[in-house]
Amino acid sequence: MSIDVLIVGGGPVGMTLAAELTRYGLSVRVVHQTYSEPLSDPAKARALFLWSRTLELLDRSGAAAGFVAAGQKLTAGNILAEGKAIDRIDFSEVESPYNFMLTVPQRETERLLEAQLNQLGVQVERDTGFISLSHTGAELARTTGLKVVISKPNGGHEVVETKWLVGCDGVQSSVRKFLEMPLLGGGRQTDWVLADLPLTGIGLNPSEFTVFWHEKGTLAIFPAQAGGYRIVADLGKGTGVEPHTPGLSEIQALLDERGPGGLTASEPVWLSAFRASDRKVRDYRMGRAFVAGDAANLHSPIGGQGLNMGMQDAINLAWKLALVTKGTCRNEKLLASYNVERGGASGLMTSTVARLTAAASARNQPVQTIRNLLAGALMGLSPRRRVAGGLADISTGYAHTPLNGPEERAFPGPGPGERMPPVKGEVPVGAGDTPRFALYADASPEINDVLRQHADLLEPVLRPPLSRRCVWLVRPDGYVAAVSLDLDVKLIADYLEALKEE
Ligand SMILES: Cc1cc2nc3c(=O)[nH]c(=O)nc-3n(C[C@H](O)[C@H](O)[C@H](O)COP(=O)(O)OP(=O)(O)OC[C@H]3O[C@@H](n4cnc5c(N)ncnc54)[C@H](O)[C@@H]3O)c2cc1C
Repeated sequence: MSIDVLIVGGGPVGMTLAAELTRYGLSVRVVHQTYSEPLSDPAKARALFLWSRTLELLDRSGAAAGFVAAGQKLTAGNILAEGKAIDRIDFSEVESPYNFMLTVPQRETERLLEAQLNQLGVQVERDTGFISLSHTGAELARTTGLKVVISKPNGGHEVVETKWLVGCDGVQSSVRKFLEMPLLGGGRQTDWVLADLPLTGIGLNPSEFTVFWHEKGTLAIFPAQAGGYRIVADLGKGTGVEPHTPGLSEIQALLDERGPGGLTASEPVWLSAFRASDRKVRDYRMGRAFVAGDAANLHSPIGGQGLNMGMQDAINLAWKLALVTKGTCRNEKLLASYNVERGGASGLMTSTVARLTAAASARNQPVQTIRNLLAGALMGLSPRRRVAGGLADISTGYAHTPLNGPEERAFPGPGPGERMPPVKGEVPVGAGDTPRFALYADASPEINDVLRQHADLLEPVLRPPLSRRCVWLVRPDGYVAAVSLDLDVKLIADYLEALKEE
């Protein structure tokens, strides 16, 4: 019997996708083959931070509260140079119910996601891996179903029949390689060291991180959990051999040289070195197959965004796959928008992080002096609120998606492709057991007709509009689909009709 979606990779992105699809009523299987490489060691936290937008999106399934309870809130970040305060990024100014950076080690994120998935009745099938697929290239757009060969824990094979395949199998993705989707890009590469360890000495504010801009390079200290810290320091432009894993004494030397002085590092939980670069596939979709998370897009760990971007890929794809698989929507542009939206969002995040990284790793003394004087403006980050909003990912929208309704004259509030700010205490758009758009409008006979005609796509109850002159149609992931001025309800009805048509 055919399932709806086979997900390859039970990491954070695969599990997020599985939970969303199951919640929306699709049948899924998640197959997971543990990497043999050292990153599968649970002591190595990898991702440490969840940002505001990810938490807002997780709130749609009720999962955000568990993450907040398990995490530690960071409210601000400080940039210092030569002992002087250069800039401050204040997350309390982020306009979100989650106006903080949340520290949660990746293993805890994975534990919470797996618990949520198990509650929905789905078990990750371990020691089970992707081997091959019945179709490739253009055939993937023509076929109505796929056959996927997977390896089983007993050494045997199984052929899984599925309507869709999603590769969430990380940076080494076998799905991506099988589909011959190369990772492109790479650009400027810088070498970094990372240490997770306890620090003693002068007091550091446990709810703020600090970045020290030093003439030899940058050092950042982030509070982690249980009194631990993550230290990240740049070693300059990557050339020739890959950077080597540092010893504790090298981390101590970096702290003494670039830090505030008086800090002692000890008992490292994880020491690592990496070469940072950003790469992504040209298209996140090939017919009935998709890639998401690190399989699609490798972010430099410096921005602390990879896992967040991947979970958002999963959430973006899930409601679209659910509407198409259930037959509610037939318009091809729904699935085509996944690559446009997530590829675009990834590009924007990469440039935000690249600007920060370039400023942080400047080696030329005159440039450092100008950077320190002009801080925010030099990085293109002024006003500061935008930095926090950019990192928290609440200002990223989908300006160029084919899903945007017509751009009308200026209207008060967010336009097509922009995030509709969620309101604390209100049921988030996209909650529930089927993906539904929300109408922000005052009641009228015309609006009530639209609600009736599109009951399969719309929340049954109207939400209060931001202005009485307008109607907002908001997608199940909380981005504005269309806005109609002067209560032109036909525009909304036409939009929904078009989504349903082939
Ligand atoms: C040092 C470091 C620090 C980081 N810090 C942050 C941070 O602070 N914030 C942040 O957002 N991100 C951070 N990241 C990035 C983050 O860890 C990744 O983006 C995230 O793990 C991606 O999740 P994923 O599910 O796409 O891939 P993975 O976590 O790699 O999961 C994919 C899974 O698929 C499995 N798999 C592989 N091949 C197969 C196969 N053939 N069949 C079945 N299963 C398979 C693998 O075992 C793997 O567990 C950091 C990364 C590093 C290295």
